[in-house]
Amino acid sequence: MAALKYLWSPWRMKYIQNHRRDAACIFCLAAAQADSPENLIIKRGEEVFVILNRFPYTSGHLMVVPYQHTAALEALTPACRAEMMELATASIEVLKRVYRPQGFNLGMNLGEPAGAGIADHLHLHIVPRWSGDTNFMSTVGQVRVLPEELEETYRRLKEVWEQIEV
Ligand SMILES: [Zn+2]
Repeated sequence: MAALKYLWSPWRMKYIQNHRRDAACIFCLAAAQADSPENLIIKRGEEVFVILNRFPYTSGHLMVVPYQHTAALEALTPACRAEMMELATASIEVLKRVYRPQGFNLGMNLGEPAGAGIADHLHLHIVPRWSGDTNFMSTVGQVRVLPEELEETYRRLKEVWEQIEV
């Protein structure tokens, strides 16, 4: 009985709701692994984490992702949404130091018709931009040519992130 009571305690229900994970979801899967160039997580906060996009649009393409597996922005707590913006800001600071981009795109594609690749688990894209990068992409057709390996990107961003926190 004691175990059953524990299982259904309000605290535990709240924990399950806030930390619901989907085994088939790449974000939930990455969050459950140790941080390395394998799972691509650069930084963990209280309710969100920062992860490298495995198929980056440009070098340094990051995503800020809540631990909560949800498609709805309104399902997140105000604290979680605030932390998303804080870690997006820190991401920009780190990317500026490492890549010196000339601009950034920040955005969410909510729902498949809006272009979400992983529609069930929302995420905020942070894409560093340089003048002419789209022209460069279009001249090479559909092939994404990247100037840097993901593992190298991971190492550089993590190193600088740790420096700004000291
Ligand atoms: Zn998920």
